[in-house]
Amino acid sequence: MLFCDFDGTITLSDNIVAVMKQFDPPGWRPIVDDIVALRKSVRQGVGEMFALIPSARKQEITDYILSTAGIRPGFQSLLDWCKANGVEFYVTSGGIDFFVYPMLAPFDIPLDHIYCNGSSFEGDRIEILWPHACDDECDNDCGMCKTTVIRRFPKDRYTRILIGDSVTDFAGAKLADLVFSRSHLTERCVELGLPHVPFETFHDVVRHLDEGDW
Ligand SMILES: [Mg+2]
Ligand SMILES: [Zn+2]
Repeated sequence: MLFCDFDGTITLSDNIVAVMKQFDPPGWRPIVDDIVALRKSVRQGVGEMFALIPSARKQEITDYILSTAGIRPGFQSLLDWCKANGVEFYVTSGGIDFFVYPMLAPFDIPLDHIYCNGSSFEGDRIEILWPHACDDECDNDCGMCKTTVIRRFPKDRYTRILIGDSVTDFAGAKLADLVFSRSHLTERCVELGLPHVPFETFHDVVRHLDEGDW
């Protein structure tokens, strides 16, 4: 199985940060600082940041992401490779449904293979929903808990490969048989001595998978 991060991995940069910078609701920066300094969990911080934005701006946000976020080169090739080789491809994203689904719509990924957070626009402000929160074995308060998803596919029955770039991938990387890493995740894998292959585009990932050295 492949478990692939969305923000900064499938897309070229982090979409939650991009939305906050663009819509700039008063008060979002201290919340980001708190998340980075681990004073706030990702779930709490992301929930608080979106609660600063009026629900009425939903379409504007989706349109903004669709028109500005780029997909990393080679993504379609990786999906093709998975299909050809009978490898299941899961998106494990800490992003939100109202921009994750539209961004992935051009690609043929079944909806039940996309794990992300949900949202409600019924109140005045955007409310984030957490359908895939941490199970009993994770106390990170992740929001979308990647280790909870990965643990559903037991190690003795599956080869579990993780693709990611950053903090939200650290815990999952420890469970994986192999990690394709970028950025902070590469540094973390080096620190922890985890088996990893640094990559820049998904063509690099396909090349490595084709070599069969996993
Ligand atoms: Mg990421
Ligand atoms: Zn968790």
